Amino acid sequence: MSDGPPSDLERLWPDEWQRGPRFAGVYSFMRLPLSRDLAHADVAIVGVPFDGGVNRRPGARYGPRAIREASEHLRAHPLPGQSLWGPLRALRVIDYGDLDIFTTYIDESMRRIQELMEPVYAAGVVPIALGGDHSIAIALLRAFARAHGPASLIHFDAHPDFWRPDDPDRPYHHGTPFRLAADEGLIRVAESIQVGIRGTVSGAILDEVREAGLAFITAEEFAMLGVEETLARIRAVVRPPVYLSLDIDCVDPAYAPGTGTPEVAGLTSREIVQLVRGLRGLPIRGFDLVEVSPPYDPAEITAILAANLVYEFLELIAATRDESPGRAEGGA
Ligand code: MN
Ligand code: MN
Repeated sequence: MSDGPPSDLERLWPDEWQRGPRFAGVYSFMRLPLSRDLAHADVAIVGVPFDGGVNRRPGARYGPRAIREASEHLRAHPLPGQSLWGPLRALRVIDYGDLDIFTTYIDESMRRIQELMEPVYAAGVVPIALGGDHSIAIALLRAFARAHGPASLIHFDAHPDFWRPDDPDRPYHHGTPFRLAADEGLIRVAESIQVGIRGTVSGAILDEVREAGLAFITAEEFAMLGVEETLARIRAVVRPPVYLSLDIDCVDPAYAPGTGTPEVAGLTSREIVQLVRGLRGLPIRGFDLVEVSPPYDPAEITAILAANLVYEFLELIAATRDESPGRAEGGA
């Protein structure tokens, strides 16, 4: 962010980018400007098209592209009871494009993802990373921690992704990022929480999560607690600065079939929207939304949900900036 003279991007903001039919033009997220001008942005949507960390069904490399396309369905709108103008008026949001990962080389990709994300954080911009599989979260958290220190993590997922690597020299896959993050001190474990855990995860891994002091709410517990009590428990645990990692497989495959490791009896799309919306006011400084796998996504069901959740993320960011002079007063 800078107080320098307005860029073209700012002068045009945001109506120019929203003109014309929504199906027209080159796809960026919600047809926001494709830009790397971090000096004139508050939020950057960043594609991370890497799926070399999946154990089973690949395809999440196409996630960023599919989420951008599905964002065609979104209109820039204020959400009920939330910021007056909607997030696209409250914030300068750019689509940063995709990071230059190194397909098939996971170590190199993790290095690059971290390196390329660090300037985004250094510029005071809040990134929303679109995966990609969940292995990328370790690189994203390393970059986050450089800027903000260790994160208080809110993690929606069917899986704890807390497995210890079988081989310490080959630590990366989409089941290990939060174990690695805990071991590296990138997350404040006692101030972190996982929601939606279920299915084919073993009791042994949950014992490890418990032993580490990381709170979790299984999908079954969530069904009993409901949205409000779950939100109360999240708020009781987390402390600033917060990082939000959302694996789309926290949602039931009926609502999110396009993913690598689906587990039945998950959250509904309405529940995940309510949960994310209920995080309003928390100082969340980094986001990722991962594991959308378009080859398994009939009728864009999963990508449309993901695009809507990204919009909800934007609203969360806008809500924490309501007190500061917003763009709505700046006569954009
Ligand atoms: Mn998962
Ligand atoms: Mn995951």
